[in-house]
Amino acid sequence: MKERLQQLQQEALEKIEQASDLKALNEVRVAYLGKKGPITEVLRGMGALSPEERPVIGALANEVRQAIQSALEAKQAKLEQEEVEKKLAAEAIDVTLPGRPVRRGNHHPLTRVIEEIEDLFIGMGYTIAEGPEVEKDYYNFEALNLPKGHPARDMQDSFYITEEILLRTHTSPVQARTMEKHQGRGPVKIICPGKVYRRDNDDATHSHQFTQIEGLVVDENIRMSDLKGTLREFARKMFGKDREIRFRPSFFPFTEPSVEVDVSCFHCGGHGCSVCKGTGWIEILGAGMVHPNVLEMAGFDSKKYTGFAFGMGPERIAMLKYGIDDIRHFYQNDIRFLQQFHRV
Ligand SMILES: [Zn+2]
Repeated sequence: MKERLQQLQQEALEKIEQASDLKALNEVRVAYLGKKGPITEVLRGMGALSPEERPVIGALANEVRQAIQSALEAKQAKLEQEEVEKKLAAEAIDVTLPGRPVRRGNHHPLTRVIEEIEDLFIGMGYTIAEGPEVEKDYYNFEALNLPKGHPARDMQDSFYITEEILLRTHTSPVQARTMEKHQGRGPVKIICPGKVYRRDNDDATHSHQFTQIEGLVVDENIRMSDLKGTLREFARKMFGKDREIRFRPSFFPFTEPSVEVDVSCFHCGGHGCSVCKGTGWIEILGAGMVHPNVLEMAGFDSKKYTGFAFGMGPERIAMLKYGIDDIRHFYQNDIRFLQQFHRV
């Protein structure tokens, strides 16, 4: 019986040593230490032994059991450690590999131009004002000296929601709303960027939806020379430091006098080229002194206050700046077009 136990111990230790994974090790454990295992069987047969032999064999059986038990535990710890190492090796990250570049998006060219213009005017002390795109006829037309039936309304046909509510045709209603909020007290110094809508047929230079940025200054002693100085500063920051501007008489119902503003050609420097159609000048915006009627309707005393306003199309500025030949590119979301402005 003693020999049988020693033999079992040796067998078990060999099998433990050979076990290559945790599953095999567990099979050895069940085979030798389980309730139906050979050691339990030996202990059951102890009844046949003499009283002197019993404690000796019992002690030996316990020793054998403990030896197998600790061999199993040691092997299990070793196998577990190996498994962790194997897993770590499989998941290893090679930090010396060059990284995969992250694809960066870019701002839409219009957003870029609008933000550039905003920054420029914020630098001159303006604040940004915004208003609703679905607008009342009153703010879009009437408050801007365009009463119902005024012929100039024909130039700005819109999309009507009802008789009195429409998609705004320009950002000027924001000016009317802001002046109204000031309750007749200056100064007002704002720029209003935003989307506007007109019932135009889309072609290379027209879009039924486009953007505008307008500026408005109302205070005491605002003169046309202030307007000219402001716009010259704008033109130089936007198109280059040697730019000059010129005013040509024009008509807008909400300003008097009104002007079209040209900038000297940034492409040829004013000698004449295809960009400026040989004239040396490029039209960039409309402007003028705020019409007294507009001031009065917004609650300002037109004897005390004067002001200037200007408005431009970021599409036109972007087309000039980046040499884009068709306004529809801005709204077609063609990724090949938009990607060109990645690092302009
Ligand atoms: Zn030119």
